[in-house]
Amino acid sequence: MSTKAADAKKIKGQVFLPGAVHWLVVSVAINLGLLLKLIHDRNLLLEWSSLPDKENGTHLSSLSSYPPEPKPANDGQIQQKLINLDHGDPTMYQSYWKQMGDRTTVVISGWQSVSYFSDTKNLCWFLEPGFANAVTRLHNLVGNAETENRHIVVGTGSTQLFQAVLYALCPSDAPEPMNIVSAAPYYSSYPLITECLKSGLYKWRGDANDFDKEEPYIELVTYPNNPDGEIREAVFNGNGGILVHDLAYYWPQYTPISSRADHDIMLFTLSKSTGHAGMRLGWALVKDEAIARKMVKFIEISSIGVSKDSQVRAAKILDVISDTYEDTETSDESKRFFDYGYQEMAKRWTQLREAANKGQSFSLPNLPVGECNFSNRTFGTQPAFAWLKCEKADDCESFLKKHKILTRGGAYFGSSKKYVRASLIGHLEDYNEFIRRLSLINSTESP
Ligand code: PMP
Repeated sequence: MSTKAADAKKIKGQVFLPGAVHWLVVSVAINLGLLLKLIHDRNLLLEWSSLPDKENGTHLSSLSSYPPEPKPANDGQIQQKLINLDHGDPTMYQSYWKQMGDRTTVVISGWQSVSYFSDTKNLCWFLEPGFANAVTRLHNLVGNAETENRHIVVGTGSTQLFQAVLYALCPSDAPEPMNIVSAAPYYSSYPLITECLKSGLYKWRGDANDFDKEEPYIELVTYPNNPDGEIREAVFNGNGGILVHDLAYYWPQYTPISSRADHDIMLFTLSKSTGHAGMRLGWALVKDEAIARKMVKFIEISSIGVSKDSQVRAAKILDVISDTYEDTETSDESKRFFDYGYQEMAKRWTQLREAANKGQSFSLPNLPVGECNFSNRTFGTQPAFAWLKCEKADDCESFLKKHKILTRGGAYFGSSKKYVRASLIGHLEDYNEFIRRLSLINSTESP
């Protein structure tokens, strides 16, 4: 017998060489480690999905299984597909941009966008001049916001601008944190963002209608409002608070543009205007120079500016929208962005109201009708979200979840669980399936 053979050991009747034993131990250890990591990650995922952080990526467990493969149920039938209407992901607009082909294509070479700086002469030194021009041009075309004597501050989504506004408006030497309020139902991210870092500068105080302290405050006014589409005015108009206007949806596909908004601080986002949420761009129109400077400071500290590539792409997109209106050749409405968006939203809202009116299970808010100075149409607000009330179920989110429809429950918006917010700006197939299920529930549920 050779030395190697003599060293061979018998384990459970099998012969292993000492080297092989070593590898076996290592392999078992690696696999066990992987298994433990998997269990740990799964727990983390479940933990995350139970947090009330829904706007910015909760429901992770549902996302991780979305879109799910239809699985045969025990009785052999195909299970319903899960429809995720929780996030306001604006994928509806993709078909418009596809139809525009190469008109919006931008080529950025490796040598471009190298510097941190865009325009050192501008108060907002990371603002691309082309993007600033395109923003001003579009507002002037649509007539939805005053741009004269305003500073444009660009941000990584209007989410970053909201944080910049809070930083800019709350004095660092105040004895108490500034009170932040918004009338309920309010956008579910406001409390999350405000409370995220447990800042000493500001504190979320909830529904503006319940705020009765004799202290300074900031009121967030959103119109059309997320989630219910209402055209809001400040609860505390003119009694000493500071107003921040979030005009993410003040565009003619959602609501009649009745006048040029002329507030001190106005926030806009590409996500809901053109549907390019993935570019992560927003802009603020700010009257006061000192406030604009402090917002810029915040963005400098938190991200040293904003992606130039995104700004260059966004400038192209915004300019193409303006071009299609200024170019008299483009008379086909479906080629003009806001007309396309308006028609699509009108169609979806007509179908939604029809489905809701089929029975007594659901109701929708009545929204104001007005004349749009941009399109000359008279129409009712047709928001990006449905603020749906379950007339029978007490917990509307859970009720719809049983029908494999994911929405966001009213409690996240400071309101009742009888309501949910459902996104209407997703892919057409999901939207159609949502309408089909809603009609079915409505016609089969007993009154
Ligand atoms: N404000 C409102 C009212 C919104 O609905 C949203 C998007 N859901 C935002 C701000 C944030 O937009 P962004 O994607 O630009 O961060």
